[in-house]
Amino acid sequence: MTLHPSTCPLDCPDACGVLLETDPAGRFVRLRGNPDHSWSQGHLCGKTAIYHEVALGPNRLRVPLVRKGRELVESTWDEALDRIADGVGSLDGEELLALSYAGSMGLMARHGPMRVMNALGAQTTNGSICDTTSAEGYRVVLGDAVGPDLECVTEADLLVIWGCDARRTMQHLMPRVKEIAQSGGQVVVIDVYRTDTMRTVEGWGGRGLILKPGSDASLALGLCELAFQNGSADISFLKEQCTGAAELRAEIAGAYPVQRVAADTGLEPGDIHWLSGLLAKASRAWIKTGIGWNRRRNGAMSMRAVCSLSAVLGIADRLHFESGDHFGLDTDWLGQPERHENPGRQPIRHVEVGRQLQAGNFRGAFVWGHNPAVVLPESGRVCEGLAREDLFLVVHDLVMTDTARLADVVLPATALPEYTDIFKSYGHRVLQISRKVCTPPAQQRSNLRTFACIAQRLGLDADLRELDEEQLLTEFLEQHRSRFTDGEFERLLLGQPVKLQLQKREGRGTPSGRIELASDSCAESGQGRVASYVRDDACQQPGRFWLHPTPSIATHNSTFTRSERHLHRAGTPRVFVNPADAQELGLVASQSVRLSNDVGTLTLELAACADTPRGMVRLEGFPDTDAIPEGLSTNALTSADISDLGEGFCQFSARVDLSPA
Ligand code: SF4
Repeated sequence: MTLHPSTCPLDCPDACGVLLETDPAGRFVRLRGNPDHSWSQGHLCGKTAIYHEVALGPNRLRVPLVRKGRELVESTWDEALDRIADGVGSLDGEELLALSYAGSMGLMARHGPMRVMNALGAQTTNGSICDTTSAEGYRVVLGDAVGPDLECVTEADLLVIWGCDARRTMQHLMPRVKEIAQSGGQVVVIDVYRTDTMRTVEGWGGRGLILKPGSDASLALGLCELAFQNGSADISFLKEQCTGAAELRAEIAGAYPVQRVAADTGLEPGDIHWLSGLLAKASRAWIKTGIGWNRRRNGAMSMRAVCSLSAVLGIADRLHFESGDHFGLDTDWLGQPERHENPGRQPIRHVEVGRQLQAGNFRGAFVWGHNPAVVLPESGRVCEGLAREDLFLVVHDLVMTDTARLADVVLPATALPEYTDIFKSYGHRVLQISRKVCTPPAQQRSNLRTFACIAQRLGLDADLRELDEEQLLTEFLEQHRSRFTDGEFERLLLGQPVKLQLQKREGRGTPSGRIELASDSCAESGQGRVASYVRDDACQQPGRFWLHPTPSIATHNSTFTRSERHLHRAGTPRVFVNPADAQELGLVASQSVRLSNDVGTLTLELAACADTPRGMVRLEGFPDTDAIPEGLSTNALTSADISDLGEGFCQFSARVDLSPA
């Protein structure tokens, strides 16, 4: 047995250090946790602990497939590449769509293929389906998403976890939370239903506060107003570090009285005073926000309000959202946008891919690291669009995803031990190179190798035909050499997890370089100079229930929906409904029910769940489409309308009706 250091490739802020175990013949056996990784400390979640069942399992794609009539049949790489050349070779760039996302968080696997797409002049998307809205809200106020070192969170005497079900989405935060709770610190969890994190923290003596969906900004601004009133606002921090403090103070004065905040949020007035008192008393308060929690119409405003609260309290440098900017790596460099014939073009909105395809736009599409048929809103439209007769669809993936089923050509991808890449995190500060340690079990090719082959068959430039992981990695590291100390660089090359030192930064990354509590750019875009509470309009859907898609503990986005054991653990796709709501509608547990709105319909099994508030229905993960009569998943019900900043996905701004199926 040999162990090789690597990083979990999944789209998860923990980016755990793993050890790839190979047998004496050099074959991949399984993943273990790497105890030398400072954040994950040797532990993996249950999903990735059985990653080998995907990499070595029967559902792994082994050879290329090409469409013959209604069937996808096995072929050679040569035949598949010929079909691609026939299908897209004569198309103009503007007729081609490049669709990629975070199927592997390897920077080269994710961004490297864009070199070929840019050379072809393909259109691409703005990638706005996850954290864009939160990120824009954060950027407006606090600038670059560097954040504090989350490994230091245990110093907190008060931790507020805001919109983050860490037990499901950032599991390695939880031991630190427990340490805070058990050493006398206070932990408060704010969310819109009783999450696993909230229940766990309550068990440790902490407290959960459940808000009405989309009302976070009212609470945050109400707490700001109380902080100014009770003298806990950090006036010297506001003077030294911020612009717009007086404007914010004037705007919120009298606007967010406790009674109003209570009505907006559904909290008791006493709870609001209690939280305000905790924040006033704490000497080392931290706030940990979620990442995708603001995928809603008013999401950027919610983030602006929480960031503004952190500044008013003088704890902005102890608010953690993401850490991606800590690394200072230019991922655009990997995709070479300058190769595009029109480098200044506007990408299309990622959330609107379904609408674009249904309108007949594009005649060829390349998909890698992405399952748009499931993860994009209005997925009924997306599927119809991808299935268009006049659209030539190429999909590169590990397994037969819902998107691959619609393809003209399916190309088999490599699993983690079979490609070289470099992984950063968006939660912690560790960077790591992961080297190829196994040959693929069949004809699978890495993302870069695949796109090099496509470049060769389409007659593109020689450097694209020879795209090579080791070479690109060397060039990428060279490009960023000044980011690393000698010691860091040496350890990176050895494949060790390396926690990068903080870079010296000029200002915070806002236009003024300071924290901006009043923003000119927001005023120009019509959003308001300072944060305010704007009610979530649910994309104008009139349904009786808020639809709340939540993360699954058993699967990961749509990554494991072709893995028997992951699906078995996830169980029957269910909709979770408060028992009082179910009773009022005459519905009982295990009954088949229909969720419907203007966007679509989904039929699932009902589960009564007291942790789901009244007026909300909750889904977990992306249910297996084969187990759902409509053959679609959660996003059959979500709209492609955009959020208040960042043109982001409004996944949580959806309402549905519920009826017996
Ligand atoms: S999915 Fe997240 S928690 Fe699980 S092993 Fe990967 S990085 Fe770690």
